Amino acid sequence: MKIQTIFKLKLSILSKTKYIFVTGGVSSSLGKGIISASLAKLLQSRGYSVTIQKLDPYINIDPGTLNPYEHGECYVTDDGAETDLDLGHYERFLNKPTSQANNVTTGKIYLSVINKERKGDYLGKTVQVVPHITDEIKHRIKILGNKYKYDFVITEIGGTVGDIESTPYIEAVRQLRWEMPGSSIVIHLTLVPFLAASGELKTKPTQHSVKLLLENGVQPDILVLRTEKKITDDIKSKVARFCNVDIKSVIESIDVSTIYEVPILMQEEELDIQVLKKLGFTTLERTDLKDWKEFLAKMKRSKKIVKIGLVGKYIELHDAYKSIIESFVHAGAKNELKVEIVWINAEKITSKTIDNYLNNVDGILIAPGFGHRGIEGKIKSSKYARENKIPFLGICLGMQCAVIDFARNVMNLADAHSTEMDSNTPYPVIDLMEEQKTVTNVGGTMRLGSYPCMLNKESKLFSAYNEELINERHRHRYEFNNKYIDDFEKQGMKFTGINPESQLVEIIEIENHPWFVGVQFHPEYKSTVINPHPVFVEFVKAAFDNKENNEKRKVEKANSNL
Ligand code: GLN
Repeated sequence: MKIQTIFKLKLSILSKTKYIFVTGGVSSSLGKGIISASLAKLLQSRGYSVTIQKLDPYINIDPGTLNPYEHGECYVTDDGAETDLDLGHYERFLNKPTSQANNVTTGKIYLSVINKERKGDYLGKTVQVVPHITDEIKHRIKILGNKYKYDFVITEIGGTVGDIESTPYIEAVRQLRWEMPGSSIVIHLTLVPFLAASGELKTKPTQHSVKLLLENGVQPDILVLRTEKKITDDIKSKVARFCNVDIKSVIESIDVSTIYEVPILMQEEELDIQVLKKLGFTTLERTDLKDWKEFLAKMKRSKKIVKIGLVGKYIELHDAYKSIIESFVHAGAKNELKVEIVWINAEKITSKTIDNYLNNVDGILIAPGFGHRGIEGKIKSSKYARENKIPFLGICLGMQCAVIDFARNVMNLADAHSTEMDSNTPYPVIDLMEEQKTVTNVGGTMRLGSYPCMLNKESKLFSAYNEELINERHRHRYEFNNKYIDDFEKQGMKFTGINPESQLVEIIEIENHPWFVGVQFHPEYKSTVINPHPVFVEFVKAAFDNKENNEKRKVEKANSNL
């Protein structure tokens, strides 16, 4: 073969998308999403284009219909997919948007196969798990490489190896490995538990879970061992020997205080180098993690505390508010402040208890939500923030609560409400959007995804964004009722962000208050490590100013009493 041909062949191998599968063993919740995102970050920092996809083995079409108690937050993409919260981590780490194609569920796979069967696409064949379901899974994996031409597609397989429902996914991985030799690897994440009684780390669960993978015809290339204690070389070599991997491919993933340290740990363990070598890369580009390390340094430097009261109804389950929590981490670091979230159960808030819950926080956030539970507590909290001049951010339902309080208590519209909670309210200041009135199905039918919004140049959020036209993501059915716009404006509520096409209200602010903002959209979905969201950055700043002013006032008062 001519040198040129060999060169071209090599180039074509290298320019083809490489597929990295991440499976989990032994236990759920080991952090496959964070390992996938960290590896993606390391590859991206070497100049490669990377995307991450999550395959979820449940039969729901998407998590949009799932109760947050079941599944944590439902994350929304620009193109309006309701997805697993891991996609939030992918975006926060990579600073790149994901899409419909990045989250596949068993429900979606079956729906598409069954639709094809009804159309007669299978030409009289018996439709089976293998090959039809597995073909559909393979198609959904490869589409990211074929259509978007990423250098790397990392596919995280939800659940744990051995689960009945994840078997077709593992089978699809086995087939793909066979069909694309040299273009894919499997990383298996397992747990190495520490037994306090014997004072030892135990490798047996890892050995068993690799055996399970092998029974399914998949040999992992790299093992990532989640552990509480340092893993010795002896343990690494034992795992390597039993599981047919080389010792350098046994990677320690020790518990850390923040998920944002994990890329650095994986870099120290050389996870990315092992991946690149196994995929045939001989020259390695340098990593550039300067911005990331600066963020970590800022986070560590941030000692001054600012307390934000988060009023919601799933407060025992912090995963329900994942993106909000992470947005505060990003905004805190940007301001060099440590945001402490005070979790406040909306159902516990009454006129008697409210002072106890809220008089000690520097800022109040009313969380998004659905349904009646806790709604009066949220409306009262909004009133408290308005009257006591505490910086306030209402997100989606939180904004709607601010409107309801304003209607009831400033405009004296008794029993004003959202028609979501009270369909007979005399003042429906929040009402079902016109296009929602004919909707009957619950799944995937809200106003979802990114919409434009024009900002009023005189507003707080214009100075936060420094842009007139913004795009933010939505997930709601109800909306400010434009019939009331003039009445509200006369009393001091300003509509400072409007959708230029539909005239829907997207942002409210109130006058004569240090920082009172409600947004119909979800800024938390777009905050990333590299681009902390301006709404959160400004809210945290306002809350800290409030804290400092309060402290100054206390000192002045003490001095004047001397
Ligand atoms: N339940 C409200 C609506 O559907 C708010 C939704 C939300 O907070 N995401 O409009």
